[in-house]
Amino acid sequence: MQDADVIVVGLGTAGAALAHHAARQGLSVIGLERRALDQAGARWINGVARWMFAEAAIDAPEAPELAGGGHAFHMLLGRGPERVVVRDHEVLEVDMRHLVARLQRLARESGAELQEGVTVLGLEGQTVVTSSGRFRGRTVVDASGLAGPGLLGRTRPRASDLCVAAQEVRELVDERGAEEFFGAHDARMGETVCFTAVAGGYSIVNVRVSEGTVSLLTGSIPGDGRPSGRKLLDDFVREQPWIGRTLFGGARSIPIDRPRVRLAEGRVALLGDSASQVFGAHGSGIGPGLVAARLLAEVLAGEPEELHEYSARWFHEYGGTVLAADVLRRFSESLTPEDLRVLLDTGLMNEVTARATMEQRTPPIGVALLAQTRWRALVARPDLAARVGRLATRTPAARLLAKSYPRSARRVGAWSRAAASLLG
Ligand SMILES: Cc1cc2nc3c(=O)[nH]c(=O)nc-3n(C[C@H](O)[C@H](O)[C@H](O)COP(=O)(O)OP(=O)(O)OC[C@H]3O[C@@H](n4cnc5c(N)ncnc54)[C@H](O)[C@@H]3O)c2cc1C
Repeated sequence: MQDADVIVVGLGTAGAALAHHAARQGLSVIGLERRALDQAGARWINGVARWMFAEAAIDAPEAPELAGGGHAFHMLLGRGPERVVVRDHEVLEVDMRHLVARLQRLARESGAELQEGVTVLGLEGQTVVTSSGRFRGRTVVDASGLAGPGLLGRTRPRASDLCVAAQEVRELVDERGAEEFFGAHDARMGETVCFTAVAGGYSIVNVRVSEGTVSLLTGSIPGDGRPSGRKLLDDFVREQPWIGRTLFGGARSIPIDRPRVRLAEGRVALLGDSASQVFGAHGSGIGPGLVAARLLAEVLAGEPEELHEYSARWFHEYGGTVLAADVLRRFSESLTPEDLRVLLDTGLMNEVTARATMEQRTPPIGVALLAQTRWRALVARPDLAARVGRLATRTPAARLLAKSYPRSARRVGAWSRAAASLLG
């Protein structure tokens, strides 16, 4: 039996960041990963808002980890041509293979012991049972993502709360063909063209060319019989002869249900996708997982008896953003390309709200924005007006709710019921 202050299960971005921060705080840390370490976590390009690196106390990436950022983002309504263009945003395109490797290196340098090829099977008290023996931790953290062992009894989110995404970097085989494609969509090479609501409100096909490669990102909620992100990507590539073979990438599900209301029980904590700490409006879990890792390590360093403080601090400091993003995701799911056109006419959909959402902030959907709204555009659409009204009231409610997350674990049940009734 091996012992440590903290046993971390899963060494993707969230687990590796925690191993680093906890070891830096002077705690002994053993990290367990079922895959080879250089195959752990996300293996594709992800968009991460720059501010989240600062918040997570991790240096912002540099090339080759940094694969792009700041270029114009054309958010087309359906297939367009109407669009919102977001310029000068602070979303970094990060090669996750490099970020995972950097975080694991930082963890080792801080003193954590990382073990690969170890599959965690379950938990007996504070003892982690694995394919390679037993490990005892004063604290056990499950950062094993959606496919992990669910050490706090996770049930898989409903199909309607799973986004299936695919991201691939492919060869650019015909530069002229690419130029024609971007020209036809009124965009330049190096910019992102994003087709929205192509398979239900919550779906995208996103394409960009840079340095001889094509970067593709697709996602949808296939639970309602819609094509998955994988299928959207394959279908798109089939239509575009200028896109060549896959260089790297992957596809899998992202939990976009609300975060777990109890992020810890006793001395066992959840982190990252395993806690649904995901900005649900676009299924982004890297930044939230990194921020939560920093926060959990700080709580662990204070040697509390139990870890409820982690839940409370996370909801108070960051939960409002994630709960508001959940409200936005449910709203966006209901939108057709025609609805999006109406929202563009009202002024509710604009560069400011789109940039905030891209950067994983809460868009300013408050009184000021509603006061400027061209409501006439909504007169013929009372159904959409009602949904906008719900969005406008539930967004601030979600933020207030997170701030009122109870400091006592005993009150979480009541809080959770209030959240369900307020947010639907
Ligand atoms: C195609 C795609 C595109 C995405 N794009 C974005 C984006 O642009 N921006 C963004 O922020 N997010 C994006 N996401 C989501 C993001 O990738 C995830 O939220 C993030 O990877 C979750 O990190 P994690 O560390 O919590 O879990 P994971 O990355 O799933 O890591 C968990 C680790 O635990 C290990 N593990 C699992 N079970 C066990 C076990 N039993 N024993 C030991 N180890 C185990 C796994 O092997 C894995 O290495 C995207 C997801 C996909 C699929």
